[in-house]
Amino acid sequence: MPEMESILDQLCLNQRRALYDHLNAEFCSPKLQRNCSSNDSVDEAKVRKTSLDFESKFFSDMMLHQGPYQPPSQLRGMKDVTFRIDPALLGKRLASYDRATKTITVSSAEPDVIHLLHEMIHHYDCDLFQPAYHNIRDLVVIYLYEQLLRKYPRLYEMLTDHIGEELVNFSTDGTIHSRLFVLKSLDLDFKFGTKPGTVYGYDMEEKYAKYF
Ligand SMILES: [Zn+2]
Repeated sequence: MPEMESILDQLCLNQRRALYDHLNAEFCSPKLQRNCSSNDSVDEAKVRKTSLDFESKFFSDMMLHQGPYQPPSQLRGMKDVTFRIDPALLGKRLASYDRATKTITVSSAEPDVIHLLHEMIHHYDCDLFQPAYHNIRDLVVIYLYEQLLRKYPRLYEMLTDHIGEELVNFSTDGTIHSRLFVLKSLDLDFKFGTKPGTVYGYDMEEKYAKYF
């Protein structure tokens, strides 16, 4: 499985780089080599593989590979993300995204798909918030809005009704659920056949029910 081997190689490089930054060279011993092939690394590689599969199937718009624009894109999507497994998340938040370190933390190697998709949107959203992409970001919002309006005629009403709520609805790491986030989460609900608001979470499924 050359693809999996290359992912593991990359994880090992990332681990080594981080450790070299924080530890003295004396710690970079054969023990470190064993850590690179530990179960944790395999689990993280599994989540990375899942997210890359999702990216190729469902996020071509957020990667600027689809839509009314053909800009030069340096976006690397999930290739830029560090994945971490934290079993302590089980029964709590289940997943999180840290925009400062571009890290998605999930509870296991086979996390809840909805939670993984939610955190993935946060990463693309934050990437498109860079000044270089501001104008293009607006076009992605318009593109998604037009696509979704065909499926949800009351979309504008829902978006305007919930403006205040979304502006104050931050996740605990401070990552905003922006208008782009809302639209992309609805797009994924449609593609996965889940009720509108499911990927967003925070009881939006119940709140959106009267519109869709
Ligand atoms: Zn969130």
